[in-house]
Amino acid sequence: MQYFLDNTFTIISGPCSFEGSEQIKEHLNFLEVSQYLRAGIFKLRTNKKSFQGLREEGIEKLSKIKEEYNFHLISEVVSLGSLEALKDTVDIIQVGTRNMYNYELLKELSKQDKPVILKRGMSATLDEWIQAAQYINSDEKQVILCERGIRSFENKYRNTLDLNAVSYLKRKTNYKVLVDPSHGTGQKFMVNDLSKASLAIGADGLLIEAHYKPDLALSDGHQALNLQELKELIMEINKLAPLFNKQGVY
Ligand code: PEP
Ligand code: MN
Repeated sequence: MQYFLDNTFTIISGPCSFEGSEQIKEHLNFLEVSQYLRAGIFKLRTNKKSFQGLREEGIEKLSKIKEEYNFHLISEVVSLGSLEALKDTVDIIQVGTRNMYNYELLKELSKQDKPVILKRGMSATLDEWIQAAQYINSDEKQVILCERGIRSFENKYRNTLDLNAVSYLKRKTNYKVLVDPSHGTGQKFMVNDLSKASLAIGADGLLIEAHYKPDLALSDGHQALNLQELKELIMEINKLAPLFNKQGVY
């Protein structure tokens, strides 16, 4: 199956971490239509005491939810072991910023057929990022790049979302490019602005963190939209997408 077709703008949403079935059912029920859901099952956290993901228990619970609802699941692989564990449950594999340089993992991903969303390393140049994508590429498989902000001297926000990168990649390469304004800013009040800017600059879609109870989230609650804010963003993008010759996909 091909995802992220030409002239579409796809919004992928979900919580940073999968925390339980109620969380995901509330998300899917609230949106009514949600073709793509992203939820972290294995988490790479800076602090070892932080929530590390529901892991095997999470895979089991999400598999059950998939039997009830119709959506494509995106989740991050953090290691060769997690790839093995996730491969039957996940439809699109995410590689996070910390693993963009994990060439052994990228080689393993080249051997399987699922599409891969490759996030940009937090200090990676475009050349390094594209070369990482080439490790995974194969004729049968889509590799989608995801700009998620880079480290800069600015400290008012978590990262600096590099929309230059989107313009460059769309004009100079054939990759589909998603933007993650949630990690790109780390500030929920900026997510809507940067989402619209991403559409205008030619991105193929968004990866948005949203949570049914952001204040209680076990990771990244500060940057998560609540479900109403997410719905409003989707409605706004839906209206704007045709101005850029795109059809919204949610
Ligand atoms: C995430 O998507 O929740 C995540 C950890 O992203 P990144 O790898 O971009 O920090
Ligand atoms: Mn996150």
